[in-house]
Amino acid sequence: MMGVSVRCPVCGGEIRGRLLREWVFRFYRVRRFECERCGAKFNFYEGPKSKFTIPKARG
Ligand SMILES: [Zn+2]
Repeated sequence: MMGVSVRCPVCGGEIRGRLLREWVFRFYRVRRFECERCGAKFNFYEGPKSKFTIPKARG
């Protein structure tokens, strides 16, 4: 899809589903996804030094 592997922070499934929005916040490229498995919506932040989701993954 876009060269990054993103996991849903709620169910842990790999996201192949819908990219809802994409924008830039400071140093980060932010993508908002909807998980096909559990329906959760979350933001994926990709910066020069780190990648993380909001909300953060459990465990
Ligand atoms: Zn999920």
